[in-house]
Amino acid sequence: MAIDFTLPPDLEALRQRTREFIEGEVRPVEDKLNGDGAARGDFRRAIVELRQKAKEWELYLPHMPKEFGGLGIGPVGMATVSAEAARAGIGPFVLNCQAPDEGNMHTLLHFGTPEQKETYLRPLCEGYQRSCFAMTEPEVAGSDPTLIQTHAELDDRAGEWVINGHKWFISGARGASFAIVIAKTDPDAQPPQARNSAFIVPTDTPGWEIVRDVETMAGGHNHCEIRLTDVRVPADAILGERGGGHKLGQVRLGPARLAHCMRWIGQAEVALEMLVDRATKRFAHGSMLSEKQGIQWMMADSAMELYSCKLMVLHAAYKIENGLPFKQEVSFAKHHVANSLWRIVDRAVQVHGALGYSTDTPLAAMLKQARWARFADGADEVHQMTIARNVIEAWTDTGSLSAALGDLTL
Ligand SMILES: Cc1cc2nc3c(=O)[nH]c(=O)nc-3n(C[C@H](O)[C@H](O)[C@H](O)COP(=O)(O)OP(=O)(O)OC[C@H]3O[C@@H](n4cnc5c(N)ncnc54)[C@H](O)[C@@H]3O)c2cc1C
Repeated sequence: MAIDFTLPPDLEALRQRTREFIEGEVRPVEDKLNGDGAARGDFRRAIVELRQKAKEWELYLPHMPKEFGGLGIGPVGMATVSAEAARAGIGPFVLNCQAPDEGNMHTLLHFGTPEQKETYLRPLCEGYQRSCFAMTEPEVAGSDPTLIQTHAELDDRAGEWVINGHKWFISGARGASFAIVIAKTDPDAQPPQARNSAFIVPTDTPGWEIVRDVETMAGGHNHCEIRLTDVRVPADAILGERGGGHKLGQVRLGPARLAHCMRWIGQAEVALEMLVDRATKRFAHGSMLSEKQGIQWMMADSAMELYSCKLMVLHAAYKIENGLPFKQEVSFAKHHVANSLWRIVDRAVQVHGALGYSTDTPLAAMLKQARWARFADGADEVHQMTIARNVIEAWTDTGSLSAALGDLTL
């Protein structure tokens, strides 16, 4: 029997160490900062201090290879480390495996030239630079990257690309040293997916302008609107191939979406723990809330959903780690985990009553954060479209649905 659901001893030790570190060192700092209504700068300072401790605990940069100072943990191991890290909001930042840097690191590792890796990847890994990923635009549907209007023209004489365009919701743009910008370079190329390229743009390049930090329902979280006006970068600022922007996005987004799922599982688990804890301590109508069937059903539904989320994420991570096709499994996971997170946090708010609606617990902030999970990095409906397309294709091509059902031989 090849199926084994236990973690190898070294990974289990890493998981436990991460739990201990997050609960013992990170959560107390985060709770205090939240309680004090601390400013963004205070969080940044705390993260820098905690990163030092993360290095001492041998938890820093888990997802990168050892040559870049990381722990060399693959997708399956990262599934468990990320879920543990995300039990505190700042946990992934402390370990330096947060979005969007995590995805950008993988992209640079995969597509970067040796020079690009030394100039951009190494400082990210060392933690003294941050980056952002600029694809979405206000004027066209972010769900369809073939519509991107930001364009780059090659000035042959100067040997430079000149980029003009408009982006928004660019996470982490304020404070980032460079951006990976997706821009149209070949407007007539066929298929349309071959029209965009990726560029590395240092954010101190003239013409790169942060218009504003877009205020969201969860406040301002450094999701910026950016204007690019005659931004000039050298000819070799392309990351990957010319016309390879779509491919790069797909390679980046598969594992990056899964990394989101792993962090959301951590958040959903905290919400369910809070639900259960509250229900076992609150008395109403002659018994504890936990003794009422209506509340037990919420617990049962949440437990089943969390369990299925974990299985889906582990299976998708296994496929990535073993070089197997993973697109369908990542779409399953992205849709299911995002929706489960939303439902589980919402149930936890319900069981807490007015307390859940207050900002005295983290639940209100968690609910607002959970809402974007259902459309960012692929809206629910787009993942459903992909899933259905793969189902139809598998049936038409092979007369079997197996390839579209995770290739599980049950
Ligand atoms: C918190 C946050 C952080 C983000 N960070 C980044 C970042 O760092 N970099 C970046 O480039 N972008 C970022 N984004 C943008 C995000 O990737 C986009 O919001 C997402 O791709 C959807 O694009 P859109 O908002 O333009 O929605 P649209 O594409 O306009 O879609 C709107 C809605 O239309 C529906 N829809 C779309 N297509 C279909 C279809 N084929 N069938 C049925 N229904 C459909 C869906 O319900 C969808 O929610 C971020 C967004 C948020 C909220």
